[in-house]
Amino acid sequence: MTKTSSSLHDLGVAQLSRALAAKEVSSLEVTQHLLARVTAADALGAFLHVDEAQALAAAQAADARRAAGETGALIGVPLAHKDIFVTRDMPTTAGSKILGGYLSPFDATVVARLNAAGTVSLGKLNCDEFAMGSANENSAYRPVMNPWDHDRVPGGSSGGSAAAVAARLVPGATGTDTGGSIRQPASFTGITGIKPTYGVCSRYGMIAFASSLDQAGPMARSAEDCALLLSAMSGFDERDATSIQQAPQDFHAQMLQAREGATAAQPLKGLRIGLPREFFPEALSADVNSAVRQGLAELEKLGATLVDVSLPRTELAIPVYYIIAPAEASSNLSRFDGVRFGHRAAQYDDLLDMYKKTRAEGFGAEVKRRIMIGSYVLSHGYYDAYYLQAQKLRRMIADDFQQAFTQCDLIAGPVAPTVAWKHGEGKDDPVKAYLADIFTLPGSLAGLPGMSVPVGVGEGGMPVGLQLLGNYFKEGQLLHAAHALQQATAWHASAPGGI
Ligand code: GLN
Repeated sequence: MTKTSSSLHDLGVAQLSRALAAKEVSSLEVTQHLLARVTAADALGAFLHVDEAQALAAAQAADARRAAGETGALIGVPLAHKDIFVTRDMPTTAGSKILGGYLSPFDATVVARLNAAGTVSLGKLNCDEFAMGSANENSAYRPVMNPWDHDRVPGGSSGGSAAAVAARLVPGATGTDTGGSIRQPASFTGITGIKPTYGVCSRYGMIAFASSLDQAGPMARSAEDCALLLSAMSGFDERDATSIQQAPQDFHAQMLQAREGATAAQPLKGLRIGLPREFFPEALSADVNSAVRQGLAELEKLGATLVDVSLPRTELAIPVYYIIAPAEASSNLSRFDGVRFGHRAAQYDDLLDMYKKTRAEGFGAEVKRRIMIGSYVLSHGYYDAYYLQAQKLRRMIADDFQQAFTQCDLIAGPVAPTVAWKHGEGKDDPVKAYLADIFTLPGSLAGLPGMSVPVGVGEGGMPVGLQLLGNYFKEGQLLHAAHALQQATAWHASAPGGI
């Protein structure tokens, strides 16, 4: 064993995979080391559930697979799952009291596939209730601290996943992104995350928030780590009616695929990166702007050319999303009625009273707000004025992207208008939080793949992410560009102080 125990947590997914293959370390050793870190870092609030016994058994099983000659890249790699994925052997809460005590009879497809690939699950990660939020302050259990500054939020809704990866508690984690919940927390914590094209990862067993938007994806230290995880997580699943029927993808191979005309010094030669002028408004904070420009300048050095494009309906993405997502949520969340899952009110008069009390007790304020908005915009008389209009605009937003992609291969801009804010800020003003989603919502509404890649720090030394968006099924191109950037720079390798 040549790796010292103190450096084990510094290894990302790909590095750890190589160390495991070279028998420099065993999965059991690294799992034990990370479990101790998870316990020591409990104050971060990243985990909602840890299962040591199960993790150690999975690590031993992975070591046995490697000893028997199996070579899968992820065999023995520890990770943890956002608590929105159902798991058979661990409780699932979706960050909500209404699912308190719920145990799923099956694993989500994403979890089952990662298990089959040999990953070792340490537990379930904190998140905003039903993935609604941008700060992880809507978790019914506890807030999550940003490992870079405990006074600040980690972003949301995959805040537990982001904090756990940034704090080096796990090399990778699963997340979900409905309107930015992989990209924004990745940006706020200095890690790398990718939301693939809608339909690339199965939604089976991923508790539904807004079904036409929800997508799973990996959160890790680097594009290479994400490529390895996404290859295992994705693929057609007949149990999800919106799953894309395509052959399994090797995103790692796609990431390495050299561009035509590329050179060693200019791996991105010929790549046209579009900068939508609406993604650089006056209101964009100066620190975020300068970090993003710094990242773009590096991409230029690597051979990319920057072109001016327009996404004219960017601002409209906010009202469109905050009509469609609550509309779908109000329908999806009707299943939590105290009859089938989790919590049921202790005292009630009759069936209707049981529903009412269970839902009043079980759902938090933000979830109730969205159920109200969603029911309103779907109701007779308002459907045409709100929901239908929003659907029409959604199509136009998607068309705007297609127009932009006639001029460029990828689109780039900030992930969020600011760095991570302080706990409590914005909590009393939901609309302020909604407005901060402006740059992630358009890509989500269009169903496009998107990434957050660290490109430096801003105010208070907080990380800033560069958002890269690709056309449908261009995950390989996105990962290739992000990987080239990470080969040439070290932003993605910097860890919060004291780690
Ligand atoms: N912040 C957005 C919301 O609150 C996005 C959440 C998500 O992507 N799950 O809905």
